[in-house]
Amino acid sequence: MKKNRRFLAGVLGFERLSKYENDYLHDSNIRSCSYMGFIVVLLELWMLIRQVYSKILPKYQAGGVRLFDLFVTYTSKYWLFLLIGLGLMLFCLFYQRGKRFSKGKFIALVAVGVACMLYTAELSLEKFTEAGTKTSHIVFISGEKVKLDVTPAMARIMNAMLVTIYVFLFVIGAAIVTYACFNYFKGKRIVILEHVAVTSFTLVCLAFGVFVSYSDFWGGKEIICFLTMVIYVVCLLIYRPYITVLILGASFYGFYRVLLTFENGLSFENQSIEISGVMRKIISGDAVNYVTFFISLTTICFAIYHGRLVEARKSKALEKSATEDQLTGLFNYNHFSELATEKIRNATGDLSENVLLFVDVHNFKAFNDQRGFEAGDRFLVSIAGYISDVFRGSLYGRQADDHFVVLTGTEGLTEKLDALNEKVSDYDDEILLGVNCGGYHLNANSEDPRVCIDRARYAAHLIKNRFQTVYIEYDEKMSEAYRKRLYVINNIDNAVENGWIVPFYQPVVWSDTEQLCGCEVLARWMDPVYGQLFPNEFIPVLEEYRLIHKLDRAIFEFACRDLRAAIDVGKPVVPVSLNFSRLDFELMDAVSELDGLVKKYGLTKDLIHVEVTESALTDNFSKLNEAINRIKDLGYSLWLDDFGSGYSSLNVLKDYQFDVIKIDMRFLSNLENNEKAKNLIDCIIQMANRIHMLTLTEGVETKVQADFLNRIGCTRLQGYLFGKPIPKEALYDRIDKGELIVSGKRL
Ligand code: C2E
Ligand code: CA
Ligand code: CA
Repeated sequence: MKKNRRFLAGVLGFERLSKYENDYLHDSNIRSCSYMGFIVVLLELWMLIRQVYSKILPKYQAGGVRLFDLFVTYTSKYWLFLLIGLGLMLFCLFYQRGKRFSKGKFIALVAVGVACMLYTAELSLEKFTEAGTKTSHIVFISGEKVKLDVTPAMARIMNAMLVTIYVFLFVIGAAIVTYACFNYFKGKRIVILEHVAVTSFTLVCLAFGVFVSYSDFWGGKEIICFLTMVIYVVCLLIYRPYITVLILGASFYGFYRVLLTFENGLSFENQSIEISGVMRKIISGDAVNYVTFFISLTTICFAIYHGRLVEARKSKALEKSATEDQLTGLFNYNHFSELATEKIRNATGDLSENVLLFVDVHNFKAFNDQRGFEAGDRFLVSIAGYISDVFRGSLYGRQADDHFVVLTGTEGLTEKLDALNEKVSDYDDEILLGVNCGGYHLNANSEDPRVCIDRARYAAHLIKNRFQTVYIEYDEKMSEAYRKRLYVINNIDNAVENGWIVPFYQPVVWSDTEQLCGCEVLARWMDPVYGQLFPNEFIPVLEEYRLIHKLDRAIFEFACRDLRAAIDVGKPVVPVSLNFSRLDFELMDAVSELDGLVKKYGLTKDLIHVEVTESALTDNFSKLNEAINRIKDLGYSLWLDDFGSGYSSLNVLKDYQFDVIKIDMRFLSNLENNEKAKNLIDCIIQMANRIHMLTLTEGVETKVQADFLNRIGCTRLQGYLFGKPIPKEALYDRIDKGELIVSGKRL
């Protein structure tokens, strides 16, 4: 029952529409109005030309009358409609452009509007003074001009109809002028005036239709003008169905009544004309058509209304997907930036009271690893909810991943951020969660929100793992380091092309003989501005901005090229281990790239070891799993880097086929005095042997460490004790000097 009622309400247009749907319908009405204005202008121009040829010129040629007077007498009403059509058309066109008013637009609109007002005021006054005095009406019956006497009551009605038309035309003129002024001086639109203009136009059209058709009807003609005007109004301007029914019902019924009233009130100067007979015949003959027409038109209007609503919903869905983040429903970053740009541009007062925030979630990755992706998604949706609660009234959106952005005021900011942090950290009892936020205060209306957000992001990144600190502001002191980061991001292509990226080689030795069994390739950035940059200055930034593959692709190629060159000149070569970032598998087809290079330089696969960090493998990312398996299938040696530095080491060992485990250098710190650490490394090596994996310990700096590791069965060692990462020339220098002996043993 309730459902039926709702359905009926929907059909009749009583349902509540969203702001978007209302706006969409309004927009289409305004668009229709501009077409209607255009049609009116054309029609009236045509009428004017017709008047000139059929009335004015012949009369003028006959002589005796001034051309100007003829013009005034025969064209005055056409000018009025021409002006109104023009005004409405301009009004709607400016609306659709949505731009601020320039002086030219403003003057054009005001001129047209004022002209309409003056003109209609004058005409209505004339009609008012005439009211009740005019007792005859001229009509054409069968081509013959007939003067009909009318009763004073009928004369009043006729005048009232004309006055109504003029009054509404006056209202349109006034609406246009007010709208133009408001727009020009305040830069705002006034929706109500748009409605007034459209509605007045509707009523003018209907009244005009009634007036003209009524005259035609007297002459025994069809009521075409009325019907045309009705179609014009209700099919182009789409109102809610119940309003359409009201408009149509009132117009059809009203018109019918008017005809009957006049029939009774007529008296004829020329009694020989059977005027009332003609009229009655038309009414009875066309009554059925009249009703049918009413019903069909109503149905068409219903159909158009619902069609437009469907269009509105479709276009809303499209717009939504272009502006909203699909998961959280917040604005996506693009849309956020657009709105923020607009807001920043229009911000007044003390600009530095506006702050752009970058919100990052602590430990989100750990949450995802432990609770799974779906729970991670739900968590993000909840965070979006917290942000909307805490920053109600501000502008916010999701940048990507677990990063959110907000444009807000500084008042109560710390409290708000603390509240947000509390909500996020309460989300899970077992995982330590929270937010770290960076803020950037605006300096100028011209600031680009993306750049501001990036600075806020940089600041946030500085407190990444400090759970007790929720908020940090970007300041001038940070700008140098920030500039360096930006420099890296903006120059990675240059660096690759200009050879600023250089592979350094760090020796890896057999622990028993301490002879060279391989080298790890570590990137260095030899910058013309900043000098030598170390990986910690560019690798994390490149990973954060998803550019790391550019560096790795280059390093892989340099390493292969160096091997080829050494082979070609007959130098001894050892296998090289290459560091793969987790993102390499996402951002490029890392395995095919590597395999392609190995083929391109004609190398054997045993010369390449692939290092993947343990943390890369905790991501549940199927592409990565596939890639790892492919590396093995293709015959490369797969090494697990930084073992023991993350969470789920043992699982990783179980799930993948590694050849070598690289034990993280943190196990070695303070090894000499720490029995526990010694036992731990011992156990790890035993365990690795049990599952047929070889071991390498990184960060070996003392002879004591090296001896201990050799004793407990770690097969390879790497660390400053055997050599720091150095360029290939320096490496060969050391080999040539006998400081490093290339081992012939391969495993
Ligand atoms: P990693 O793969 O764990 O590399 C070992 C790091 O430890 C190197 O730092 C190396 O210089 C340093 N190291 C080696 N032996 C010792 C030692 O005895 N004592 C101490 N204190 N440190 C030692 P580096 O070259 O600064 O590289 C840092 C990290 O940057 C690397 O860690 C690796 O994760 C990453 N990285 C370096 N080059 C590349 C690259 O080409 N691609 C990718 N994706 N990552 C790279
Ligand atoms: Ca490594
Ligand atoms: Ca390592």
